Amino acid sequence: MTARRANRTLPAVLTTSIHPTADLERAPHPDAPRATAVSVGGLRRSYGDFEAVRGIDLEVERGEIFALLGPNGAGKTTTLEILEGFRERSGGEVKVLGVDPDHGDRAWRERIGVVLQDSVPEPELTVRECLSLYAGYYSAPRDLNDTLMRVGLTELEARRCEQLSGGERRRLDVALALIGDPELLFLDEPTTGFDPAARRAMWDLVERLRSGGKTVVLTTHYMDEADRLADRIAVIARGEIVATGTPGSLGKRRQLAAEISFRIPEGVERRELPVAIGAPTTNGGDRVRVQTDDPVAALHSLTRWALDHDHELPDLELRRPTLEDVYLHLTTSKD
Ligand code: ATP
Repeated sequence: MTARRANRTLPAVLTTSIHPTADLERAPHPDAPRATAVSVGGLRRSYGDFEAVRGIDLEVERGEIFALLGPNGAGKTTTLEILEGFRERSGGEVKVLGVDPDHGDRAWRERIGVVLQDSVPEPELTVRECLSLYAGYYSAPRDLNDTLMRVGLTELEARRCEQLSGGERRRLDVALALIGDPELLFLDEPTTGFDPAARRAMWDLVERLRSGGKTVVLTTHYMDEADRLADRIAVIARGEIVATGTPGSLGKRRQLAAEISFRIPEGVERRELPVAIGAPTTNGGDRVRVQTDDPVAALHSLTRWALDHDHELPDLELRRPTLEDVYLHLTTSKD
């Protein structure tokens, strides 16, 4: 629900009572014991001749955090907005909390919370008034003060929405998505524009939502965010899913080579380095980078050689493949 859909007068909304006991850690909706929160089969969406989403299949389990990753224009927002019931699809089957979003009624909409990529909260209202307005749309909204506190906006509750900074606006977006105490949250790039502390706070909040049995579907361009939060990830490129999996297993992450790097000790020639570390590559200068499938053995060989010869290994580092490495591999190899 966006602020643009609001058409009630403010005083009536501000007198709406707020459910006092709603809490993030509350158990899932008792009438909704289904194991699957979102089910998508053969989803397609065209804009004129251009097919932005080209046959996507995915399932999101209840109680998990599911991340959709992909380059700009891959089709993430299109997919999310179809699931949210804000965009029509050209083909395929979609069920969200057991309902086709094209036919979602008010009761269904109350069960989902949405953070759109671009939203326009009521500019003239204060943060608190805006949240109160939205709370009035729900039969059992969350506690207002607690919601403000959770997103770190308590201090700014009297500030007008139009005066908020970009990151503060985003926090308000999240508060507006939470206020209905939804079972399922769609977060489209929820931490864009956040400072590092605000991002960490948001991650804690999303993890608490999961602890409370909520389901979260999010998009992000921050790989560390997906790595930290997601139970499962789907990578979309050019409207198709190119990989799904847990952050640790996506794109055979565990099987990709690790990299050992260090600076060549003073007075040592490159040819003196132990052969067992394989063919080292340098980036210029005295830094050596070694790709290895067996980092434990390679490190053992290297450090034993260094100890035997009484050498330091300045700036010794072991780097495992990051989610970003895997993501770039998956999304650029399709080009
Ligand atoms: P980003 O990471 O940049 O937000 P995205 O993966 O969310 O990208 P979408 O917004 O779903 O991408 O867009 C997918 C493709 O569809 C893009 O090429 C976009 O230009 C196109 N597109 C989206 N909305 C429309 C529209 N209303 N009319 C025409 N083309 C559109």
